[in-house]
Amino acid sequence: MSVNTTNWSDPGTCPFCGDELSSPGVGFIDHIDENATCETSFDQWRGNLAGDLAGEWGG
Ligand SMILES: [Zn+2]
Repeated sequence: MSVNTTNWSDPGTCPFCGDELSSPGVGFIDHIDENATCETSFDQWRGNLAGDLAGEWGG
């Protein structure tokens, strides 16, 4: 399985641009709200996950 295209090891840091977030988790939502590039990357990353795991994640 090659799902880990993004190495998101630190929840306090944006995995796409490396910026420090104001707060882990919630801060990331604010961050992609203000950074269209990161938002696009996040959408693609999330889309890849959904595509790869379609049928496995029943949620
Ligand atoms: Zn970012």
